[in-house]
Amino acid sequence: MIRRIISKVFGRKSRAAHGAQILPLAAHGIRRDQLDDCALKVCETLAASGFRGYVVGGAVRDLLLGKPPKDFDVATDATPEEVRKLFRRSRIIGRRFQIVHVMCGRETIEVTTFRANGQKEAEEEDERPTDEHGRLLSDNVFGNMADDAARRDFTINALYYDPAREEVHDYFGGVADCKKRVLRMIGDPETRFREDPVRMLRAARFAAKLDFHIDPDTRRPVATLAPLLSNIPRARIFDEALKLLMSGHALRGVHQLRAEGLHHGMLPLLDTILDDPTGERFITAALKTTDARIAQDKPASPAFLFGTLLWPQVLQRWRALQAAGEKPQPALFLAMDEVLDAQRNQLAIPRRYDGMMKEIWALQPRFEQRGGQRPYRLLEHPRFRAAYDFLLLRAESGEVEAELGDWWTRFQDAGDDERAAMLRPDTGPKPRRKRKRRKPGESGGEAQPA
Ligand code: ATP
Ligand code: MG
Repeated sequence: MIRRIISKVFGRKSRAAHGAQILPLAAHGIRRDQLDDCALKVCETLAASGFRGYVVGGAVRDLLLGKPPKDFDVATDATPEEVRKLFRRSRIIGRRFQIVHVMCGRETIEVTTFRANGQKEAEEEDERPTDEHGRLLSDNVFGNMADDAARRDFTINALYYDPAREEVHDYFGGVADCKKRVLRMIGDPETRFREDPVRMLRAARFAAKLDFHIDPDTRRPVATLAPLLSNIPRARIFDEALKLLMSGHALRGVHQLRAEGLHHGMLPLLDTILDDPTGERFITAALKTTDARIAQDKPASPAFLFGTLLWPQVLQRWRALQAAGEKPQPALFLAMDEVLDAQRNQLAIPRRYDGMMKEIWALQPRFEQRGGQRPYRLLEHPRFRAAYDFLLLRAESGEVEAELGDWWTRFQDAGDDERAAMLRPDTGPKPRRKRKRRKPGESGGEAQPA
């Protein structure tokens, strides 16, 4: 009762008193013309109808840091229905908490109505809609701009840019933290991590992507709370893993995860891989190539990347099955299926990636066959390029001879005569002869060439 009164008197007051610092252009340096046209138009249209519209989140943070933003999010006091009416090409998405997608050309701006954290109308801690670990079960309450800032995760993600005035509204010192390159949780870190354990993964991702230092108070609870990730739906963890791996800073991200003890909850495969020197070299090479491709704006395929993360396990099973007497090709197919099945309980890589991962893996033994028509046929395979890139990673990590990778690099570019001269004696398994259709009554038992 007393707590309730105290919370009523002081809790509300302190929240209400918590205003934003409004920073002029000189203090942050973000000019209106640095926004993309669509985000600018959304904010202007909202303002022209008497609403408030701010660019918020990652875009403001990235502009402050001089990085090109990945996408633009807008926060507003207009309801989703009001937003939808203002933009012809827009649609409301989401059921539990609605947001509006506004389309301009090929771009989409996500417009979100200010919302509160769920604790808005709960006066006492135990009235908040959380599970027994403190996980927030609902955050679908509209709020004002201060509430909206308080429910965001890190100070640097709670900055609101007003394009009309070229001002940044900073509720928690995010601009100063950006300058100091510190990632700091808003509010009490333990409570906020319990509310949503995925914020721990986000901390690792942002620290790696921005090359920020995690504030010690923010970092402290992570080691203890990491196991809470096991309560998060697998699909959400997978989305976060994908963001980390495709951030352009995957190598640093993976090491950050491991340093924080978070990899068990996100990429449980990492422990065994990184403990083995060849595995570590292989994954390091794979992550570096992905980061380099993203830095050059080249497409990076998630299936390729997950194929590399799972390869050390596939390889281990493949070798074990061969040691147990299985022939190489069937052993590889068995190993692939076993590993794919096992990872579904851990990381839940969606099945849509299975096809490409399997093709890349299945082509690996074919690189060993450098005689007859085989290399020519392999060159024609639609997945040759991905499988060859994969082979180069294996060569780089020392799993196969570097010479094998070099051979294929040369063979691709060589002319006809040079190619013919490069061919090795044809030692691979004979191609399987087409099975003759048997007449009814004939006995089975196909002889397999040794
Ligand atoms: P990125 O550049 O990776 O997109 P971002 O900061 O824009 O980074 P998003 O996942 O797009 O990240 O989220 C947009 C904003 O929504 C964040 O900046 C943050 O303010 C808020 N947000 C997202 N996820 C959470 C979360 N789990 N808890 C609290 N706030 C969140
Ligand atoms: Mg974003």
